[in-house]
Amino acid sequence: MADNGSAAKTLLIGLNADHFRHPLDRQATQTLKQLPGLDVAIRSLLGPMGEQFFYLENIAASVLVGPTQLPNIYGLLVEACRVLDLEVPQLYIKQHPVPNAYTFAMRGKQPFVVVHTSLIELLNEAELQAVIGHELGHLKCDHGVYLTLANLLTLATSQLPFGSVLMQGWQSQIMEWVRCAEFTCDRAALLATQDARTVASVLMKLSGGSPTLSPQLNLDAFIEQANSYDAISETEMGEMLKRLKTDELSHPVPVLRAREISRWAANPTYQSLLENRPLLNQSNGQSNRRSDKQSQPGSSNPAKTPAGSWLNW
Ligand SMILES: [Zn+2]
Repeated sequence: MADNGSAAKTLLIGLNADHFRHPLDRQATQTLKQLPGLDVAIRSLLGPMGEQFFYLENIAASVLVGPTQLPNIYGLLVEACRVLDLEVPQLYIKQHPVPNAYTFAMRGKQPFVVVHTSLIELLNEAELQAVIGHELGHLKCDHGVYLTLANLLTLATSQLPFGSVLMQGWQSQIMEWVRCAEFTCDRAALLATQDARTVASVLMKLSGGSPTLSPQLNLDAFIEQANSYDAISETEMGEMLKRLKTDELSHPVPVLRAREISRWAANPTYQSLLENRPLLNQSNGQSNRRSDKQSQPGSSNPAKTPAGSWLNW
């Protein structure tokens, strides 16, 4: 696979979520905001104690990446933040056998991203940056509150006596929203890496990768597999994308995500975001102008999920 990690990337200064939000995400966010009682749930479930528990649990059992700790990975984070025009959040690496990454945004605290060791084992540096870019997308879109709620709902369903009853009303819609939000954040992964093949490769490895199999996987065949869904009409595809579960690796969702990202990479909206913007100079981290004119852009079955597993990827 061509590694685009060394190519100069375009700095997306002034980028905001509306420049790349997937239409299904926009729709699902509106639906979610109108759910009765959800605000109360957010206030009670995401109360200070719950938040604090998850915050501590995450940061106490992970390694914080920085200039002197895994500096290569820290460099990928800092570069992705520069490209996406975002403040650098904390990044933690957590020892875990399930390949996953997620973002935690807690009121009044610095947001952070967690990447599991088993996911890093599957990926090269450019692909890891795509994962980081995806998580930064969640921050860029302020997905944190709903994502954290979705994850807490999953835990509550599996652990509280009345969890499943309590959650029935919202769960399907919140999980639908999570799936739709993923499409937006895959776009952020593309904007961070500026290489659609890198993003597709991550999705391929999430679908059927293992440390042994990953080097043998054929990306072109996987992209062809993803593009085979083009025969389905837009409306049918939209319904399918919303309904599919993301928490079963055997499910074709990553394939459809690859199809979505390959289509957006060819879309004029994506192309125009990259035009007339400064390039990141790799050697000193300063930006060079590509053009004087700096235009503004825009011209699961959760019950089956083991407790404590987060669903963001
Ligand atoms: Zn995500």
